[in-house]
Amino acid sequence: MPITQGVHHITAIVDDPQENMDFYAGVLGLKFLKKTVNFDDPTTYHLYFGNAEGDPGTAITFFPWPGAQKGVIGNGQVGITYYAIAPNTSDFWEKRLHAFGVKVTRKTWFDETALFFTDPHGLKLALIERDNMPINTYAFNGVSSREAIRGFIGAELYSAHPDATSIVLTDLLGYEYASSNNGTKRFKSAGPLGSTIDVSKAPSFGAMGVGTVHHIAFRAEHSDAHEGFRSAARNHGFRVTPFIDRDYFYSIYFRESGGVLFEIATDEPGFTVDESIDELGCALKLPKQHEHLRSHLEKQLPAIRVREVKP
Ligand code: ZN
Repeated sequence: MPITQGVHHITAIVDDPQENMDFYAGVLGLKFLKKTVNFDDPTTYHLYFGNAEGDPGTAITFFPWPGAQKGVIGNGQVGITYYAIAPNTSDFWEKRLHAFGVKVTRKTWFDETALFFTDPHGLKLALIERDNMPINTYAFNGVSSREAIRGFIGAELYSAHPDATSIVLTDLLGYEYASSNNGTKRFKSAGPLGSTIDVSKAPSFGAMGVGTVHHIAFRAEHSDAHEGFRSAARNHGFRVTPFIDRDYFYSIYFRESGGVLFEIATDEPGFTVDESIDELGCALKLPKQHEHLRSHLEKQLPAIRVREVKP
């Protein structure tokens, strides 16, 4: 049975795309990796942010739906997205987030120092100090490579059936049970990035909309592993999609027993398949099936750019 290295990417729904960009690039200092469209609805942007090289385990991606209804965070969703920061950098981040008007709650979470906060559209995030994570060399707008967010630690899943979700993590994806904290169970993969998944039960079911996570993707290192995961998901009784070409990775999707939409995505070919590392995020990239819509989309999609923002 294949074993995942951890989270590949996390995809969420937000409101205005420039506000999204100003927060994730400008405030959090992530690198804008890819400006493309939702392949299933090309009139909507699909924006990617991650580390300097756009490595698997660092990419958070967004469908901006300006003016759409707010969602409700609850069971059947990723509740909190966990990012890794270097040891002794939480003071820097707490001050920086405060300066930008973000309310921060500092606490110890599974014996690590963590800052919990929400983004401008309601997504719940945490920056967690952890040693020995891959360094992110990207520096922007007052965040140096020392303080730069390194990628995902993982996420907390809100599950309607935590025991069933736990079985999917261990028996299908190869995570191992690690520990528990007040009813939240922690699972670990080989890692380092995206290696930590916590599972808990929220008071009620979530509803999709602005400020909620749409799905979480786990890594398949190569196509053999991808096929292995697909067979395993089918054997567990899940309705799994066929392999879908997302240009930057191949994907399969299924909804796990606790209600969370899981994707399994390949590491290859990655974000540099159509742009060099220096050019990442510069041009509007369209999949070949939507290339004929380019002039229409370039007029219709709002102009957005990475820019420095001040507190
Ligand atoms: Zn995805």
